[in-house]
Amino acid sequence: MDVRDLGEFGVIDRLRDVLGVSYESRLIVPIGDDAAVWHAGDTYMIATTDTMVAGVHFIPRAVPWGDVGWKSLAANVSDVAAMGGTPSFALVTLCLPPDTPVTAVDGIYQGLRECGREYGAVIAGGDVVSSSVFMITVAMFGEAERNADGSPALLRRDAAKPGDAIAVTGSLGAAAGGLRALQGDAPSGAARDALSRRHSRPRPRIDAGLAAVRAGLTCGMDISDGLVQDLGHICRASGAGAELLADSVPVDSVLTDAYPDDARAMALAGGEDYELILLGDEESLSRVGQALGPPLKIVGRMVEGDPAVRVLDADGAEVQLPRAGWDHLRDGSDA
Ligand SMILES: [Mg+2]
Repeated sequence: MDVRDLGEFGVIDRLRDVLGVSYESRLIVPIGDDAAVWHAGDTYMIATTDTMVAGVHFIPRAVPWGDVGWKSLAANVSDVAAMGGTPSFALVTLCLPPDTPVTAVDGIYQGLRECGREYGAVIAGGDVVSSSVFMITVAMFGEAERNADGSPALLRRDAAKPGDAIAVTGSLGAAAGGLRALQGDAPSGAARDALSRRHSRPRPRIDAGLAAVRAGLTCGMDISDGLVQDLGHICRASGAGAELLADSVPVDSVLTDAYPDDARAMALAGGEDYELILLGDEESLSRVGQALGPPLKIVGRMVEGDPAVRVLDADGAEVQLPRAGWDHLRDGSDA
C-alpha cells in the first residue's frame, strides 16, 4: 500500500494512531485541527506548518516569486486565524535546487516580509538546504485569546453540535477562479487580474477569528481545501452531520461574471479562499458580523446523523458536486 491509497487524511489518521493523542497534559489541541495549541508559561501557544512545492502548489515562473512568499506565509496565518488567535513568529525553511536564481530567493523573502508586516508576524529564523525540487516550508506560532477565567478561547473543529448554524466570512470561489485564469482559461483582463490576485495573494481572516472567539464562539476552521471538504472535517471531528444550502453560499461577484456556469460549484468546492467557517447560535454569529462590518452569511445547519455534508438545492434535493475539494496525496500531481 502506498500513501496515495490512504490519501492525505488517511495518512494523518495513521500518524495520530502511532503518536497516541492525550500523552501530554500541556497539549490543549493535538493533531487534527488547523493548528496545535499548547500551554507555555502564561500563554497558550498556537503552532502550525505548511509547505509549498514547485510543480504541486505553484508553477515556477508562472507567478512572481513575491507571490509565492506571500502565499506560503498567508496559508499559515490563516491556520492561526482558524483557531481564533494572533500570529507572532515564523520559521522558514527553503529547499533550493542549486540553479535557483538568487533573485527568486530575494523575491520570496520580499513577499514573506510584506505578508508578515500585514499580519504582525516576524520571520525569526529558519533553514536553507539543497534539494532536487524547490520547496518552502513555513512554521508559524501565534497566541490564543483567553476567556475571563483564563482558559484559552479557541475555535476548534470538534465543537459543533446539531442545531448550530453554519456561517462563512466573505465570498468564495475567487481563488479557484484565479487558478483557472492562471492556467490559461482566462476571462477579460480586469477579471483575470482580480481573480489571479485572490489566488496569489490571499488575505487570511485574523479579524474574523478574533471577533468569533470574543463573541464566545468555539467552533470554526479556515477554508483551504474547499467549503464542502473542510466542513466535512468539522462533521467528522464533531460527530454530527451538516446540511449546506447551495443557493445560500456567497459566490464572488467577479467569479460569477467570469464563469457564470461554474461559479457556484467553484464556490462550494474550490480551495484556497482562506475565509473562515464559523459555527454557533445565530445571535453570536450576528455579533461577529456586526464587529466585522459585513454580516456573516449563514449557509446551513448542523444536524444529527452521519458525520458528512449534504449539499441541498432550494427544493431540499441533494446536489451532487463534480468534485469535493482537494487531497494532497491523491490529487497532488495537479498544479
Ligand atoms: Mg486550515
